[in-house]
Amino acid sequence: MSPRVLIAGGGTVGFEVARRLARSAVDLDVTLLSPDSVLVYQSLLPELASGVIEPRHAVVPLRAGLPGTRVISGELTGLDHEAGTAAVALRDGAEVEAPFDHLVIALGAISNVMPVPGLEERAIGFSTVAEALHLRDRVLDRMQLAEATADPEVRRRALTFVFVGGGYSGVEAIGELQSMADDATVQFASIDRSELRWVLVEASDAILPMVSPELRRHALATLRDRGIEVRLETMVERIDGRVVHLSDETHVEADTLVWCAGMRPHPVVGGLGLPVDDDGQLLVDAALQVEGTTDVWAAGDCARVPDLVGGGTCPPSAQYALRQASQLADNLVRSVRHQPSRALRYRPKGELITIGHHEAVGELFGRPLRGWLPWLLRHGYHIARIPTWRRKLRLWLDWTLNLTFAREITELGSVKHPRAAFEEAVAARDADLDEAQQRES
Ligand SMILES: Cc1cc2nc3c(=O)[nH]c(=O)nc-3n(C[C@H](O)[C@H](O)[C@H](O)COP(=O)(O)OP(=O)(O)OC[C@H]3O[C@@H](n4cnc5c(N)ncnc54)[C@H](O)[C@@H]3O)c2cc1C
Repeated sequence: MSPRVLIAGGGTVGFEVARRLARSAVDLDVTLLSPDSVLVYQSLLPELASGVIEPRHAVVPLRAGLPGTRVISGELTGLDHEAGTAAVALRDGAEVEAPFDHLVIALGAISNVMPVPGLEERAIGFSTVAEALHLRDRVLDRMQLAEATADPEVRRRALTFVFVGGGYSGVEAIGELQSMADDATVQFASIDRSELRWVLVEASDAILPMVSPELRRHALATLRDRGIEVRLETMVERIDGRVVHLSDETHVEADTLVWCAGMRPHPVVGGLGLPVDDDGQLLVDAALQVEGTTDVWAAGDCARVPDLVGGGTCPPSAQYALRQASQLADNLVRSVRHQPSRALRYRPKGELITIGHHEAVGELFGRPLRGWLPWLLRHGYHIARIPTWRRKLRLWLDWTLNLTFAREITELGSVKHPRAAFEEAVAARDADLDEAQQRES
């Protein structure tokens, strides 16, 4: 019987591990367990939110992208390591036990929601397709409200957008959404760009800690030049209704609050009985094996992987996650062949981060880059990296069309209530029936 490999998680790591195992010369029985039917390419969420790329082009269907891998809709809920079985909740609600010879844990991370009063009621995160789509509709919906209302307070609040967190997601999201809203003012004749208020709140003294101080300063200056209020060394203290109170004793009234202030390992990993650190990340060695085990592997945002090149631990990024995934798959195959594992030694090639308005900042092979060139290179990188030729082509088309024609600015808020029109029709029919009955009686 072929060794059974169970991969929990169909994101960056899970997809790459499955893809590599399918290509290996060893005969393995691979099952991928995922609550979603697609791999979400998170680095493209900012451009998805701003309407530059189509939502379906930022995801890759797991079944089509991984021929030869059994994909099961369900979630890992527990582990009996001694018995070699994983507890799985299937899509239909059934609880089953899945036996494995090797288990790969690739559950990623979720938003780190701090205990800020009012936060959970008022904020939205930015790590899923649904959140990115919601934000796009939200910005356009608030512009519609602002145009319709005669109340200046309502208008001001509708046109104010607060983002918390100056890392990848916060900076990319605010930069891209501001670009979209600026373009949208062409359709909203009564709204001037200067009325749109964008606030980025960051607890530390800089944004984009992953790039050099020079590039951080450039990104900060560019965002501020565009009118984005970047509040450094500031924290959100509490939220009262639509009022966001900040630690510098000021407040901002806004209808929209986006929480991008960090992620934390998926909570399921803490309940598996495996070693985790204080932050809840699985402790793995440089071969991507969970400490104290020979058959459990982990990588990506849910794992604490030693960085043998830069020192410390690998940062949570797609670039590291991909390299870890390929090393993990390689080592898993070596383990099946009774060969010694190899340690991950990875020197990142660079970073390319969009800041909106066709500009990016980044570093490539140690060279600092800013402006439209890194923005173009970023496109090339993602086209090269996204799995399947079909997705590569669609992405390239989206970006090319976007450069050629005006941005697609369409709000499809009604899709959130797909039965609304039908329910209205039912209500109209009932009203007609009532009226007819009254006439008869
Ligand atoms: C908005 C945003 C922008 C980003 N931009 C960049 C960037 O520009 N460059 C960069 O390098 N990095 C970027 N990152 C970070 C990067 O996307 C992550 O570091 C990377 O995706 C981590 O991969 P992963 O496989 O660990 O997790 P994920 O890709 O998140 O995959 C985790 C998977 O596990 C699944 N799952 C969850 N619970 C269960 C369960 N119980 N059972 C089974 N499956 C489960 C999830 O559905 C998901 O499919 C960005 C992240 C975000 C949110």
